[in-house]
Amino acid sequence: MASTQPDEDDTAPTNEEAQVGAGPRARIRRHPERAVPERTDEILRAGRVAHVGFAVEGQPFVIPLMYLYEDCIIYLHGAPASRTLQQLRSGTPVCIEVTLMDGLVASRDAKSHSMNYRSAIVFGTATPITGLEEKRAMFERLIQRNFPGRTAGIDYLPAREGDLRAVEVVAVKIEDYNAKTRSGPPLGTHDAEEDGPGSRFVVPLPGIDA
Ligand SMILES: Cc1cc2nc3c(=O)[nH]c(=O)nc-3n(C[C@H](O)[C@H](O)[C@H](O)COP(=O)(O)OP(=O)(O)OC[C@H]3O[C@@H](n4cnc5c(N)ncnc54)[C@H](O)[C@@H]3O)c2cc1C
Repeated sequence: MASTQPDEDDTAPTNEEAQVGAGPRARIRRHPERAVPERTDEILRAGRVAHVGFAVEGQPFVIPLMYLYEDCIIYLHGAPASRTLQQLRSGTPVCIEVTLMDGLVASRDAKSHSMNYRSAIVFGTATPITGLEEKRAMFERLIQRNFPGRTAGIDYLPAREGDLRAVEVVAVKIEDYNAKTRSGPPLGTHDAEEDGPGSRFVVPLPGIDA
């Protein structure tokens, strides 16, 4: 498959030692020196949107959802009628991706324009959370993660029993994982030249997850 990363090197040797902890399906083959499995936890804690992938009769789907990550578990929620939640609840294998954008990287060469990022991809299976108190606690922690300082009963009405019954919550236990980062300047053929053709620069994108 053609790369979407212009500065990825097809000839880069694999470096299996850099990926201890990643199962075979999570092994990074391109730019293995950028594999940072030990940062998966940090990236999942910093992210806010999970791209949730699963297959239905051979057709892949990827659906964005907010999430809560704690202790090797990703919590997701949605309407019971949601196809995504129905699939996850049934135990279908799931692949989840989270990206933190760190910068836009402009090169003197067309093919070496790139992006700085931290990203994690994990694999696992979901189990439904059915206990109302467990669901309530998950929502409280999800709200604190995204809206720190908001207090139940003051800033918003606490979830009622009917609310909790009307929402599906699943916990995806992470089985395999890996993370990858790119940082720094453009790496095109002419980017090391002070007075090369065109221009080169990096636009930092600190965002809210820096
Ligand atoms: C940042 C973000 C956070 C979200 N958080 C949640 C959440 O926590 N819980 C939740 O239930 N929903 C969330 N959503 C909405 C979610 O992406 C789905 O639209 C919704 O959950 C319906 O899922 P479904 O499985 O029923 O999709 P279906 O209705 O079965 O999807 C059918 C088709 O519609 C299209 N589609 C579905 N969703 C989207 C989308 N978001 N954008 C573009 N096309 C789409 C796709 O082609 C998909 O194959 C979020 C969306 C975004 C962008």
